[in-house]
Amino acid sequence: MEYEAVIGLETHVQLKTKSKMWCGCANQYGAEPNTNVCPVCLGMPGVLPVPNEEALRKTVLTGLLLNCEIPRFAKFDRKNYFYPDASKNYQLTQYDQPSTANGFVEFEFAGKGAVSGMARVRITRAHLEEDVGKLTHFERTSGVDFNRAGVPLLEIVSEPDITSADMAYEYLNALTEILHQGGISDCDMEKGMVRCDVNISVRPVGSQELGAKIEIKNMNSFSGVRRAAEHEIARQIAAVQRGEKLIQSTRRWDDAAGITEQMRTKEDAHDYRYFPEPDMMPLAPTDAWLAAVKARVIELPLARKQRFMRDYGLPASDAEVFKLNPALASYFEGLAKQAKSPKAVANWVINNLQAKLAELNETEKSEQTALGLEPADMKLSALADLKFPAAALLELVQLVETKTISSSAAQQVFAEMFTTGKSPATIVQEKGLAQVSDTAAIEKFCDEAIAANPNPVADYKAGKLAALNSLKGQVMKLSKGKANPALVGEILERKLKG
Ligand SMILES: [Zn+2]
Repeated sequence: MEYEAVIGLETHVQLKTKSKMWCGCANQYGAEPNTNVCPVCLGMPGVLPVPNEEALRKTVLTGLLLNCEIPRFAKFDRKNYFYPDASKNYQLTQYDQPSTANGFVEFEFAGKGAVSGMARVRITRAHLEEDVGKLTHFERTSGVDFNRAGVPLLEIVSEPDITSADMAYEYLNALTEILHQGGISDCDMEKGMVRCDVNISVRPVGSQELGAKIEIKNMNSFSGVRRAAEHEIARQIAAVQRGEKLIQSTRRWDDAAGITEQMRTKEDAHDYRYFPEPDMMPLAPTDAWLAAVKARVIELPLARKQRFMRDYGLPASDAEVFKLNPALASYFEGLAKQAKSPKAVANWVINNLQAKLAELNETEKSEQTALGLEPADMKLSALADLKFPAAALLELVQLVETKTISSSAAQQVFAEMFTTGKSPATIVQEKGLAQVSDTAAIEKFCDEAIAANPNPVADYKAGKLAALNSLKGQVMKLSKGKANPALVGEILERKLKG
């Protein structure tokens, strides 16, 4: 019998806010342990939480970016449990009436479960909760850092629409790209800003019933999710084929060993004794509040890619660069709208501008590393710091299109304007880079080349047409690279045939 995997993901994403969810402590990564704490986030008796409004806005904004419905009434609940990383003994979360529900994420995917290169994963809900502290285990003791306790956390729950490890990987990339570009979260995996729980079950192909749901907890890299899912799917299929009965449980992924291990059989929602948070008003957004959040919705990365291909005739590979880099995309679009050939502009923006900027950033990085700076404190050049105005790049493209300068001269002009900020016209003039399209001058160079190179001339006349290239090269040399190559070819041919 053939089996198929059914995968659903619960993705936890830290919201990008200045302060924590219910108190004024800084939401800051990397501070000394237990320095960003107060009686509220430590859960001392008698304290009252005050919600962070920006976190509420970002939750609703996430819902809008993920095509969710935004209920006009949402509430907060307590999820009760003991664990040393949560000194309150409960977590504030949204249980049965979350702030967003019923959305979807669409992304490019070519594998199983895709329709013409696209896949869609439905989003059950994205609800707001709070992060917990961080445990560190030493040789004989353990330490807990509560700086992270109370940091606003979104839990984004997908429907079990994912059918393979690869699809889970692509979904996570698409989801975090949307959240990153939407300003919801920095989604920095290394800083633990995104963690996910992977729910996997298997069933005979064609069956509609779901198998026992087995959850792999606390994954902190997407490639880890892919490896763990691949392993777990194979493990479950082998187990049911042996006639074993799988039970709902929670497992842990051991990346070094490449296996999952059972942690516990799964608790159910009723074990947590959820009840409505008595210290918190429900969230019932007004029209004006919602309109202000809606105004912050961005064009989704995939939509931008598709639009650039459609409106500017860009190939998928160029549009993909702009999908992943909104600043570069808007720089390109500002020029493409006025350009005769948007593709030519894209080439300059991607192959020259972006490449040159990356090269400069590498130098800046190594200089600042040498000074002992951490990556977070480094100042790197960005599009906004360019020495030349965007219009100058368009001017450069036009100089090539009108054949005023050759494409190799254009490279020189670009390098110079990048460093000095001088205008392309000034650089062309100063360096004498304008192409010579003056026929009389080119005729003279051609005559010289023919007189000085009897062998290629004889070859060409004897029918070896390739000999023309060597003569062309001589003419280009005599003109110091400035002769218009098309004209050189024409004139040489006319002279040799005549
Ligand atoms: Zn606090």
